[in-house]
Amino acid sequence: MQKNVYHTVRSLIISCLVAHLSYTSPIEVRRITPPCLDEEHLGKKIICYRPMRRGSPDMSVKKVVTGTGTEDFKIVATNAGHGGSGWTLGPGCAQYVITMLTTSPDAADLTKDTPITIIGAGALGLFSAYVLLLQGFTNITIIAQDMENLTSHNAGGLLAPVSMDNDPVMQKIINQIGIEAYKFYAAIAHNESDPVFSGGAIIVPTYFPNREESGLEPYVGIVMQEAKDVLLDFGNGTTQCMVVYDDGIFINTAKMMAALHTAVAPYVTFIERIVYNFAEVDTKYIINCTGLGAQELNNDPNYVSVQGHLVMLKDQNPADLNYMILVYFGKTKTKYHQEVKRSFYIFPKQLPDSEPNDIGVIGGTFIEGGTKNTPNEEEFAILIDQARTFYGLAI
Ligand SMILES: Cc1cc2nc3c(=O)[nH]c(=O)nc-3n(C[C@H](O)[C@H](O)[C@H](O)COP(=O)(O)OP(=O)(O)OC[C@H]3O[C@@H](n4cnc5c(N)ncnc54)[C@H](O)[C@@H]3O)c2cc1C
Repeated sequence: MQKNVYHTVRSLIISCLVAHLSYTSPIEVRRITPPCLDEEHLGKKIICYRPMRRGSPDMSVKKVVTGTGTEDFKIVATNAGHGGSGWTLGPGCAQYVITMLTTSPDAADLTKDTPITIIGAGALGLFSAYVLLLQGFTNITIIAQDMENLTSHNAGGLLAPVSMDNDPVMQKIINQIGIEAYKFYAAIAHNESDPVFSGGAIIVPTYFPNREESGLEPYVGIVMQEAKDVLLDFGNGTTQCMVVYDDGIFINTAKMMAALHTAVAPYVTFIERIVYNFAEVDTKYIINCTGLGAQELNNDPNYVSVQGHLVMLKDQNPADLNYMILVYFGKTKTKYHQEVKRSFYIFPKQLPDSEPNDIGVIGGTFIEGGTKNTPNEEEFAILIDQARTFYGLAI
């Protein structure tokens, strides 16, 4: 009883403060109805792995010697290691790497009908095929160990260059690539793109605790509007001070994977198998989009698997989930002594063939070195508690 009185008084004080703030200062108050986060509204739990490369993603073209003869070499363009930003940057990176390849002095004999093999059928592999087709290349094969249920299907869908490890020179290039990618998704969101991508990206208000952590500031004034300071009011006495980019973009990753398949499948040969080394690929030209697989194929120790935990939401009101939030917490250790950066995020993601009300995903963890051998299952409970605390819901 005493507790109830305390909560009512506390809510009243906060409501008055909110009303006062909105009256006396320019800060905008936005009312958000929290999602239902009790057990029966929680759906599928997903663990997947970000392919992060220390220093920067590998976007390069190299001549790789595969034997002793003069003809025993391959021209390998690599496009891998984009960490938590493979979707954010994907269309721009594909364009960037293919331009590197087509303008490389090692590719003097590359013509539009030269056979090219893409290894990997995730977002980066499919975007590469799409860009090659747009440029008129006609002889493309995609070889991949797996085509379904990849990290690329499961990814959350926030457009923001996060969870990467870029050196300063690379950061400038990444910013430019991100701006090009933003334009690609904005065209989809505004129905100005190939209809095959319809619904693959939508504009939604995107909230962060501050401008710096969004990673989006380099886009402001070029493709995005300035962020605003706002107070989120969850109507239950809990409020959060945030910044909002009203032209943020949610990428519907599962829908984009299906759309990219539809766009390229009629013109590309798909082969499902693992590639152990470049010598076994028939073509001289290869685009390596194997994500974490690039560690072995390129013999590059700089890759690290960054494990992520996601919980799908069920039976929500879709009108209440028209936004995205990302908040980082501090770093700590998991039970397997791996470094974990915890965060709370929520995006309006839907799995294919789900009911219209089965919308929303909450995450998430960033666990460096996390693999299938260290599932860190207890992180699911932690992230659900964090989400409930953020919205001021009972734990
Ligand atoms: C929890 C989580 C949330 C995320 N959220 C976001 C987000 O909100 N926004 C964002 O931009 N990004 C996000 N990401 C990151 C994004 O998902 C990845 O950066 C992106 O999907 C990587 O795509 P990819 O094509 O490089 O790799 P993958 O999707 O892993 O595809 C790799 C492909 O290569 C194949 N392959 C690998 N090795 C071999 C081999 N030796 N031979 C043949 N085939 C091989 C695989 O079978 C697969 O087809 C998230 C990731 C995680 C884990």
